[in-house]
Amino acid sequence: KFNTNLGQHILKNPLVAQGIVDKADLKPSDTVLEVGPGTGNLTMRILEKARKVIAVEMDPRMAAELTKRVQGKPEQKKLEIMLGDFIKTDLPYFDVCISNTPYQISSPLVFKLLNQPRPPRVSVLMFQREFALRLVARPGDALYCRLTVNVQMWANVTHIMKVGKNNFRPPPKVESSVVRIEVKNPRPNIDFNEWDGLLRICFVRKNRTISAGFKSNSIIDILEKNYKTYLSTLDTNSMDLDSRANMADVVKSKIESVLSETGYADKRAGKLDQTDFLKLLYAFHQVGIHFA
Ligand code: SAM
Repeated sequence: KFNTNLGQHILKNPLVAQGIVDKADLKPSDTVLEVGPGTGNLTMRILEKARKVIAVEMDPRMAAELTKRVQGKPEQKKLEIMLGDFIKTDLPYFDVCISNTPYQISSPLVFKLLNQPRPPRVSVLMFQREFALRLVARPGDALYCRLTVNVQMWANVTHIMKVGKNNFRPPPKVESSVVRIEVKNPRPNIDFNEWDGLLRICFVRKNRTISAGFKSNSIIDILEKNYKTYLSTLDTNSMDLDSRANMADVVKSKIESVLSETGYADKRAGKLDQTDFLKLLYAFHQVGIHFA
């Protein structure tokens, strides 16, 4: 009956379902977005606490079941079901997001929440345990990765509870965890693509040195193109000056001097924190090296 390709693992433990909704600290004025309501085990509990629920569900059979569940009840007027793929759906404004997430879309879901023009006040989300632990990892942890540093730039994330696989029907192959995500407000004044572009390079091999990550020719090519674009935005004199030298060599020597002057050349990404990456990005920008 359930389509596990769509991540359909229904939460059957009412205590866990209620726990998730309680952790969102809903106000009676809240509009709540739910991703993948399924048969509505969370939805019905959210409807008790919130002004409105917008539920995005991809499977029409599930949507039909949920519609039936509220039919003729006062909750019916508070529930709007949007049929379709959450990732492709344009979202209206919402105050809070709650989801027992289909695990295939974990990463795009998080970034979609972070990139909303007016991000939700809080999101309470069930993820596969390992993904949840990546979100809350600290420098030096085994699961610390590009996702960690990226998400923690834009949001504060806390681990709320572990949920064993037997709380679901059918049980998934992996354990789960619930996390709480609070997007930073105001948003840090950093270009997302620049930040992610730097992290991409540093985390190709997080246990190798930062300077090793910058050695690859394909990366030098990209940074060289970006540098040319950057120069073209400046006045023509500096353009003339730099075009005399081999541009790849110019870029390589700029990278080397930034890495040695900041002292990060021999450091490893897996051990660096937010502030370290910000310092690196700033130092690169000072010499015209851009990542997007
Ligand atoms: N919320 C219910 C619960 O807790 O019992 C069901 C959760 S189940 C893990 C995930 C739900 O998301 C399923 O109903 C599935 O059909 C739906 N789904 C899967 N991929 C989706 C997508 N891309 N957009 C919207 N819903 C999706």
